Amino acid sequence: MRKKIVAGNWKMHKNAEQTEDLLNELIAQIPTETIAQVIVAPTFVNLASAVDHLEFTAIIVAAQNVHQAESGAFTGEISADMLTGIGVNTVILGHSERRAIFNETDGLIASKVNTALKHDMTVIFCFGEELKDRQSGNHFNIVENQLKDGLFHIENTAWEKVVLAYEPVWAIGTGETASPEQAQDMHEFIRETVRKAFGSDIAEDVTILYGGSVKPDNAKEIFSKPDVDGGLIGGAALNAKDFVAIITAI
Ligand code: PEP
Repeated sequence: MRKKIVAGNWKMHKNAEQTEDLLNELIAQIPTETIAQVIVAPTFVNLASAVDHLEFTAIIVAAQNVHQAESGAFTGEISADMLTGIGVNTVILGHSERRAIFNETDGLIASKVNTALKHDMTVIFCFGEELKDRQSGNHFNIVENQLKDGLFHIENTAWEKVVLAYEPVWAIGTGETASPEQAQDMHEFIRETVRKAFGSDIAEDVTILYGGSVKPDNAKEIFSKPDVDGGLIGGAALNAKDFVAIITAI
């Protein structure tokens, strides 16, 4: 079911104490009447305490990654079973930093999607073009291919566990934002691409988030676009004042 979602990706920020402090601030400051589903993604080591901390709240805890294998000799990796075992049932996959820095390919992301879905996890599937793709006018092609190669192998019934996050790489952490019109054009294209492959019901139901330098002062305009259902927020999710302002902008 299409929802309004504001998700914060905390990346490799916040130690245990800082995590607890930020969660306390969010609990105190997010208005109870907010229509947005709020998600936070702390680092792996702080996931269990975040789940405990948020037990009686509506805030959902997500992981920033998962390994594709069930278990095995994969030093330093975390399995889906380990995540669900501590109450983490949502995972961000395909983030541009995972793609660029950790060489995650569409094929690898596709197998992580399978593993997460097998464990009944909700997947926040990230994708988006680089600056050179937009400058050469190839951005729609790139996005279509990322969707087809990383996600479109799933069954129709799996879509209820999928949230899309369009994140143009040139706008992530750069202070550069897609204009509300650029975001809407791409989100409309994404919904149309889903419609062609999976039909209108799934296309209308899927939640499509925008990510890329969303801040309190631009959130309202971006979120006002009809195909933008919320945001995946990096930098501005690291302090309660900005994150809550973005949540209330929806
Ligand atoms: C992100 O990393 O997913 C992101 C959107 O970051 P920022 O908001 O800092 O651009």
